[in-house]
Amino acid sequence: MNFDTYFRNYPDKNGYFGKYGGMYVDDKLKEVMSEITEAYYSICQSRKFIAELRRIRKEFQGRPTPISHLERLSESLGGKVQLYAKREDLNHTGAHKLNHCMGEALLAKYMGKKKVIAETGAGQHGVALATAAAYFGLECDIYMGSVDIKKQAPNVARMKILGANVVEVTHGLQTLKEAVDAAFEAYVKEYDNAIYCIGSVVGPHPFPMMVRDFQSVVGIEAREQFLDMTGHLPDSIVACVGGGSNAAGFFAGFLNDPVDIYGIEPLGRGASLGNHAASLKYGTEGVMHGFNSIMLKNENGEPAPVYSVASGLDYPSSGPEHAFLQEIGRVKYDVIDDEETIDAFYKLARLEGIIPAIESSHAVAFGMKLAKTMDQGSVLINLSGRGDKDMDYVIEKYGIR
Ligand SMILES: *Cc1c(COP(=O)(O)O)cnc(C)c1O
Repeated sequence: MNFDTYFRNYPDKNGYFGKYGGMYVDDKLKEVMSEITEAYYSICQSRKFIAELRRIRKEFQGRPTPISHLERLSESLGGKVQLYAKREDLNHTGAHKLNHCMGEALLAKYMGKKKVIAETGAGQHGVALATAAAYFGLECDIYMGSVDIKKQAPNVARMKILGANVVEVTHGLQTLKEAVDAAFEAYVKEYDNAIYCIGSVVGPHPFPMMVRDFQSVVGIEAREQFLDMTGHLPDSIVACVGGGSNAAGFFAGFLNDPVDIYGIEPLGRGASLGNHAASLKYGTEGVMHGFNSIMLKNENGEPAPVYSVASGLDYPSSGPEHAFLQEIGRVKYDVIDDEETIDAFYKLARLEGIIPAIESSHAVAFGMKLAKTMDQGSVLINLSGRGDKDMDYVIEKYGIR
């Protein structure tokens, strides 16, 4: 396959990456999604939009984020292979999510919308979107289940301080699934005034494409920086995959290069259904949340319960582009379990002075494993976020190691 033309051809105009993707929503929402698609296609070519996004990334987000050579970690693995990290933990708010939230909120502004709407589970997407809304002076409604509101008190406080309206969802299991339904319901009533901002490369077209495009700044920066630093490309690159946004943006910079690409899913407590969230490895084709992809289903064909030590990775599917990149063999998807993840979390903290998010620790763990199988070369890991949010949990559950 020729990746020169990849971004022009994938997704196609109906939002398909091969057979994955699309717009599986009712007629009303289809109309609304088509309106967003058209607006995005025209606005993203406007010089003014591009210049404004570029300025925001530099002056507000603190981009470009650096690449760090993980010298002591590399040395601890024998020193034959060099590990590097792209530091999205140093992006404003401490993770990559702000990259697409700023893009989505800027699009809302250009479309003349006054409000952004989203759901959140662990609260990370809610915090990033509340930040973007505050920056642009947009109203912000974040739907969140009562159970999650109790579990994620610091993020709820952050959203409120930033001026967002946290809407409690009290029916069903009172977690992410109910929050998604409630947010979509609200959106159908308010679409004239509002835009729904999806938190990863999932959902109906155009979101998998739009979120990937906004995140591609990570991969484009990383490629240039790595070449500058070392004079060559990395042999392998690694990112964790929940919905798949940090991975999609990171991979976008390297698809056309002779670089091995790895997406890492959470194996959690093991390979039986309910104990992991490795949808690309163990799932099958199906439709949920408005798109066709590979997903984990229960016996009724509904989204299966999933688990991961990293709350940002426990989603029963992954974006359609990942299903496609797996199918054509361009990206290899592998898994890392909870124990390997916590080991990597502590290794990076102790050897490099970087406390990674537990999500990102999956990629670090795989990078370390991969390095042990290589005689020489380099591995570039996307460090999607910082681990401040995870410290209390890690100490309580695993203790200081
Ligand atoms: C949300 C999150 C993820 C997972 O989301 P993707 O869309 O798969 O990137 C990974 N890392 C961090 C730090 C996150 O906050």
